[in-house]
Amino acid sequence: MLSPEAERTAAVGVSKLPQTMLALVKDAPGPGASLREIPVPEPGPSEVLVRVEAASVCGTDLHIERWDPWAEENFGPLPMTFGHEMAGTVVARGQGATRVALGALVAAETHLVDWTCYQCRTGRAHICRSLRILGVHAPGTFAQYAVIPETNAWVTEGLGPEVAALQEPMGNAVHACFVEEIAGQTVAVLGCGPIGLMAVAVAQMAGARRVIATDVNPERLAMARRLGAHEALDAHDDVAGRLRELTDGDGVDVVLEMSGSEAALHQGLAAITNGGRVSLLGTHAAPATIDLSEEIIFKGLRIYGITGRRLFETWYRTTALLEEGLDLSPIITHRLPLAQYEKAFTLVAEGHAGKVVLLPQQG
Ligand SMILES: [Zn+2]
Ligand SMILES: [Zn+2]
Repeated sequence: MLSPEAERTAAVGVSKLPQTMLALVKDAPGPGASLREIPVPEPGPSEVLVRVEAASVCGTDLHIERWDPWAEENFGPLPMTFGHEMAGTVVARGQGATRVALGALVAAETHLVDWTCYQCRTGRAHICRSLRILGVHAPGTFAQYAVIPETNAWVTEGLGPEVAALQEPMGNAVHACFVEEIAGQTVAVLGCGPIGLMAVAVAQMAGARRVIATDVNPERLAMARRLGAHEALDAHDDVAGRLRELTDGDGVDVVLEMSGSEAALHQGLAAITNGGRVSLLGTHAAPATIDLSEEIIFKGLRIYGITGRRLFETWYRTTALLEEGLDLSPIITHRLPLAQYEKAFTLVAEGHAGKVVLLPQQG
């Protein structure tokens, strides 16, 4: 058994781990962030230290960078590193962390759960009562090194770090798709941000009869077509009418609502076949008004709220789809060193990007 120090040294080969690292830190309330030199964290009991090879930018990170009311209420304590979608190499293990090998490439499940509450003990840890999120309630992964619980480390050999990092948001898409059968079904994906685009690819590969995507952004509609959407519709048009036309008047079997737009939600509820199923993943900035009787009850719909990924059933499916050839590369439009974080956030905010991946080892 090596001492922790010897183990750290062994993990990185000849060179020892550095004492300090670059990290993107939110250090005060208000917009912006700072690239800082801070100590490399130590893994505590049952934790692993990961050298972050790729960390993709999520809408959540933009909320934190811009410091909206949600961030104000949820993020911290300040100062704290943010970022959560990542993959990297395990370079040290805390006491009792023995499952994941040193040198393994891992992605992070970003829901930090207690494994003791009612939900966790009944197979629903993704909605743990004391849920905390990596990079929101605990130091995150826009850094050269990050500590995560060993149970959250998803070992991923055979995928590059950029795609490995995308398993976390892709898991949301997989969860939304597979909450019920999708093979042979006609599927409408409303909203083609990165998770919507991933849902297009997942539904297509899982054997959906037809996948029809909608968005207001023509660049995203073009990406949806590249990822296998049979049709990509401008959400300003008569989407419900067009979806009915494309299904011989029946309406679609499945609606995956990924946009968080109330208008899109109504389009989906108007276009779905009686007895269809809706997965709601897009979050709404304000309460939506729905006619429950006409839009849901009399149509006999099944509505699912989708958050996070099922631990770890969704991860097995996600990795399997990638290993079987699902290609996320059209979604990755930009790769940038950590120091270019401002450009990364601007790209995401302006909607001209698919997924933007930061590469912390490039500085
Ligand atoms: Zn995210
Ligand atoms: Zn729990």
